[in-house]
Amino acid sequence: MIKAEYIWIDGTKPTPLLRSKTKIVEAGAELPIWGFDGSSTNQAPGKSSDCVLKPVFSCPDPIRGGAHKLVVCEVLTSDMEPHLSNTRAKCVATESRYSDHGMWFGLEQEYTLFKDGRPLGWPEQGFPAPQGPYYCSVGGDYVYGRELVEEHLTACLAAGLKISGINAEVMPAQWEFQVGPLSASAVSDQMVVARWLLARIAEKYGVHVSYEPKPVKGDWNGAGCHTNFSTIAMRESYDKCVQAAQVLGERHELHISNYGAGIEERLTGNHETCSWREYKYGVSDRGASVRIPWQVARDGYGYIEDRRPAANCDPYVVTQLITETVCSRI
Ligand code: ADP
Ligand code: MN
Ligand code: MN
Ligand code: MN
Repeated sequence: MIKAEYIWIDGTKPTPLLRSKTKIVEAGAELPIWGFDGSSTNQAPGKSSDCVLKPVFSCPDPIRGGAHKLVVCEVLTSDMEPHLSNTRAKCVATESRYSDHGMWFGLEQEYTLFKDGRPLGWPEQGFPAPQGPYYCSVGGDYVYGRELVEEHLTACLAAGLKISGINAEVMPAQWEFQVGPLSASAVSDQMVVARWLLARIAEKYGVHVSYEPKPVKGDWNGAGCHTNFSTIAMRESYDKCVQAAQVLGERHELHISNYGAGIEERLTGNHETCSWREYKYGVSDRGASVRIPWQVARDGYGYIEDRRPAANCDPYVVTQLITETVCSRI
């Protein structure tokens, strides 16, 4: 028998939480459908509380080791329809409609570690020295939480996730990991596992992982989830990359309103962002909504970076929207 940790996204508003529970299953057997009490997760009224967990992605569980598994689930209603909170179903439908475009996504997940109600390592009173030395830093004066972050990276690799890197961020106690490039649903499934592992490992340290877009007000960077993407055509042609950047502007408001609660607090026009009120793109421009990386301009093909999504975004929603907006237009 093995322990299978069934993970799902709940119905908490405005930003859903991850939930999980353990099922003991036969090693090697197919992972069965399961259920939970939706009235305790903002997913159902008490009178008809049963929700269904349908396994959609599984990988080795690096916490428990052995043959134990982590299992990402979609939530269904008891009549086996996608639950209102289930954003994955729509993501998969859109992805298959445009499968001939060969969409790839690479997500840069930023997050902030908190302990005792303040960012990890910050003084009890006042603030650390201003931003400047912390991004990609090394050394005890600048780096807070490295041990936890390293443990998370090792766990993600042991789970078989396609992590492409990590770095310390501009604000002290803020970090980033990158997942991808992968298809829309695959990168999102892996993001769910990576976020779950981060929260699970942080428990050991008594640390809270915050995805707040603006965890500390004032002259401190916010936390985003830059979403890099390409189609087959973009991977062959620079013009297509520019066209993709152009068409994303045609549905700017729709994207902004679905890129995470509190997004306006981060997209101020300062701290390497473009104001949420406007849309612009440019080569190497970290003050734009969408950046075309300089190597892409040089090579004449590649991918582009949507810098707007907040750290607390739903990756299924973000990748679904980008797929729909871009693939229906270029
Ligand atoms: P930044 O310079 O913005 O910090 P990162 O190195 O953190 O960039 O992240 C870049 C992301 O882009 C990675 O997740 C990587 O997997 C992804 N990426 C690279 N090439 C492509 C591509 N052709 N299509 C989609 N994503 C890509
Ligand atoms: Mn990055
Ligand atoms: Mn970053
Ligand atoms: Mn980036």
